[in-house]
Amino acid sequence: MKKFFLGILLLLIVLAAFIVVRTMMYPFPKPPATGEEPETYAISDTSLMRFAGGIRIPTVSHADYDQFNYGPIEAFDTYLRNQYPRVYAGTENYTVNQYGLVFHWKGRNAALKPVIFLSHYDVVPPGEYTGTDSGQVTFSPHDPAAPPISAYPGAWERYPFSGAVVNGRIYGRGTLDMKSMLFALMESVDHLMATGFVPERDIYLAFGFDEEVGGTHGALKIATHFKEKGISFDAVYDEGGIVSAAGSLPGVHAPIALIGCAEKGFWSATVRVKGLGGHSSMPPLQSAIGKAAVIMQRLENDQMKPMLIPLMQQFFANIGGMMDFKTRMAIANPWLFKGLLLKTLQGNNTTNALVRTTTALTMMKGSDASNVLSPVVEFTVNFRILPGNTVEDVKLHLEHACRGFDVEIVNVGVPREASPVSGTDAQGYRVMERTIRQYFPGAVITPYLTIGGTDAYKYTTVSEHVYRFMPVLINNFEQQSIHNNNEYISINNFSRMIQYFQSMMKDYDKQ
Ligand SMILES: [Zn+2]
Repeated sequence: MKKFFLGILLLLIVLAAFIVVRTMMYPFPKPPATGEEPETYAISDTSLMRFAGGIRIPTVSHADYDQFNYGPIEAFDTYLRNQYPRVYAGTENYTVNQYGLVFHWKGRNAALKPVIFLSHYDVVPPGEYTGTDSGQVTFSPHDPAAPPISAYPGAWERYPFSGAVVNGRIYGRGTLDMKSMLFALMESVDHLMATGFVPERDIYLAFGFDEEVGGTHGALKIATHFKEKGISFDAVYDEGGIVSAAGSLPGVHAPIALIGCAEKGFWSATVRVKGLGGHSSMPPLQSAIGKAAVIMQRLENDQMKPMLIPLMQQFFANIGGMMDFKTRMAIANPWLFKGLLLKTLQGNNTTNALVRTTTALTMMKGSDASNVLSPVVEFTVNFRILPGNTVEDVKLHLEHACRGFDVEIVNVGVPREASPVSGTDAQGYRVMERTIRQYFPGAVITPYLTIGGTDAYKYTTVSEHVYRFMPVLINNFEQQSIHNNNEYISINNFSRMIQYFQSMMKDYDKQ
């Protein structure tokens, strides 16, 4: 008996040693040297003014296309044409579905597949603004005496479409999401053309006007147009990833360049639960609301199974080197700790969204009076689908949660599958990696899963290599200003973005 326990003990010691050794030997990439001061990038007042002027045009999109205000959309097109005559003269440019803007810059070698850079020029509504400054423009980029801007959260301190340039920042709706990228792309082409540069392969720019409301009239139409013309791309670049500042992810003390190589799908459904209606003085044992509550509880308690998809495995392997020993051990020994790792990841809203199809109960409706039992109770659930799950899987999952009840399930909008996953073994990825290293020298670079939807999705029909990444280094605070009050971008981020895209365009074919 004693021998038996000794045997077990020995086995455990060997196992523990094995796990520790595996953890120590695991090829986590070394965290880059920290403490490097970010370089500042020079920018001309002309470049800044052109961007600020674009922010002043309130191109707010509307989910109801009948109520879409096309005035600013038209004004924006005219504005670009006036500000960038060289780009207009040097490219073949046209519109798709009236307001989708396409620029085609011909390269030297027509045999090479073109690359395309995307952006959108619509913005979400600005939210509440109670200030008195009604669009008066401040332009004091280098004025150290400019008044300090107090921190988020708070109301807009500048008119949301002011494009005010103060304190090293440009303020306004769309500064981060994502007129900055649009203007950085225009500036890049403009600057390169000014030097007489001609790209090796064709470069396209394409700008949609309705990304914030689904992109079906802009990006979808443009991508379809390419498909019909038989044009496919070596790489597609859009928003959907950033360089998150050091410390944004708990325990990770270096900036992380997150390159969205896939995005989640989504499906919303309204579940109509039937019961006995009537006066509340003689209620049935279980009301329609009670039945709906059971289903909703099932949906939250018994969610779609978490999975560590290869893309996320790659992500954790890349950032794992900076995490604590326990987490590193779990990453290095998935055969033993996968369950534990998944459990830890599920414990946090952000990481939970990276490892499973999420379930969000968003709306519900019963009767309109306190003494009336509704014969039908409705609730809506929104699923964000992880690559690896399908809309069909989620439908079956929802039906299972409704078992035993008389329900009707109605689609809300058009369901969308998760996107394909773009690989990292491609020139389009390597060029990006190289350029990121150049402009964000301290950052860990890693593929990532984009949680929200982007225009990039529509281009998966015309390229295998679709990457979602905006070259800005922002902290959590700045990230929260997106779709929120006091949205701004630092001048340094904007000027670095111009340099970044110039390098991408200039060096794409440099080995
Ligand atoms: Zn956007």
